[in-house]
Amino acid sequence: MKYPISVTKNPCPKEKPADESKLGFGKIFTDHMFMMDHNPEEGWHNGRIVPFGPIALHPASTVLHYGVEIFEGMKAYRSRSGQIRLFRPMENIKRLNNSAERLCLPQLDEEGCLEILKTFVETEKDWVPHSDGTSLYLRPYMFGNDPHLGVHSVKNTTFVIICSPVGAYYAEGINPVKIAIESEDVRAVRGGTGYAKCGGNYAASLRAGERAEKNGYTQVLWLDGVERKYIEEVGAMNVMFKIDGKIITPKLTGSVLPGITRKSCVELLRDWGYTVEERLISVDELFEAAANGTLEEAWGTGTAAVVSPIGKLFYKGKEYTVCGNRIGDLTQKLYDSLTGIQWGKVADEKNWCVTVCNG
Ligand SMILES: *Cc1c(COP(=O)(O)O)cnc(C)c1O
Repeated sequence: MKYPISVTKNPCPKEKPADESKLGFGKIFTDHMFMMDHNPEEGWHNGRIVPFGPIALHPASTVLHYGVEIFEGMKAYRSRSGQIRLFRPMENIKRLNNSAERLCLPQLDEEGCLEILKTFVETEKDWVPHSDGTSLYLRPYMFGNDPHLGVHSVKNTTFVIICSPVGAYYAEGINPVKIAIESEDVRAVRGGTGYAKCGGNYAASLRAGERAEKNGYTQVLWLDGVERKYIEEVGAMNVMFKIDGKIITPKLTGSVLPGITRKSCVELLRDWGYTVEERLISVDELFEAAANGTLEEAWGTGTAAVVSPIGKLFYKGKEYTVCGNRIGDLTQKLYDSLTGIQWGKVADEKNWCVTVCNG
C-alpha cells in the first residue's frame, strides 16, 4: 500500500438504522473514520481507521481562523449483484488535488487515495444501506491545522474521511425544485476559489440561501460575480437547459465547480446524439427562451440528487414556470440512466463504477 493504514476497531459498534426510509442526508454516521496527517518533513503519515468521534483541535488551528478546508462528496452503492461500488472515484480524487493546489494544501497520490477509499469503505461495508435509492455518502475532507495565528500556507494538514448512510433523495417521487436567481450576493469570481470544493465558498453562499428560502424557494441560482449576467450554477449543483432541442450548460470559467455528474451527463447526452454547448448563457437569453417557448427543460446535476428537475425560476420579482412544473422526458432519461449505472441496474458500458468488495 502507498499509505499504510492501521485499524483500531470500535469496541461499541452502533445498531444499523432499522428504517432505511428515514435516513435523510448526513445525520447518521458509521462506526469508524479515516484520518491521516501531513507535514513537510514526514509527508503523509499515520494513516489510521479509528472509532468515529470528536477531533481535538488547537484553539489557534488554521482551519478555525482562516477557513483552510476542502472536501469531496461521493457515494458507495450496493449494486443489484450484491457488490459495493464507487462511481468514478478517480474524478473525485483528481478534483480533491485541484482544490488542494488552490489552497496550498498537499497533494495525495491518486492510486494511494483510491486504496484508502476502498479500504475504508470495505471496513464500513455493512453500513451501505440495502433499499432502492439509498447509498453510503462519503465525505473526504482536508484542513490546515497549524497551531498558530500567522497567515501563511500551512505546514500541518489533516485528512479525514467520514461516511453516512443516506436515504433515497426522492422518497416521494421526483418533484421539480423552485429556484431563485440571486441578483445581489455572488458565490465566486474568476481567480477566486469557485472551481475548488472548499468550505469557504459555502460560508459565503448561506445568506442568499436564507433569503431564497424565506421567499419559498429551495435553492439559489448564482450569476457571474463580475457582470451578474451569466448563469453559473445552483447551490451544490451544476445546471443545464434544453433550449430548442439543444443542451446548454455554463462553461467552466474558473468560478463554476466542475461537477462529476455534470461531466457524466454531458458525455451521455453527446452519446445520445444531442448537441451540448458549454458556453456563457445570460439570464436574458434564458428568459427570452422561456418567453418564446423554446426553453423546454431545466435541471440541476450533483452527487446528492443526481439529476434534479427545475420547475420554477424566480428573478427580480417575476416567476417563470419550466416544462409545466413537471419533470421533462430528457431529465427523466438522464436520471434513469445515471442511477441505473450507479445501482447496477443497467450495463456500465463506460466502466464508470469501481468495485470495492462483495457486499
Ligand atoms: C459538489 C458541487 C457540485 C456538484 O458536483 P458533483 O461532482 O456532480 O457532485 C456543484 N456545485 C458545487 C458548488 C459543489 O460544491
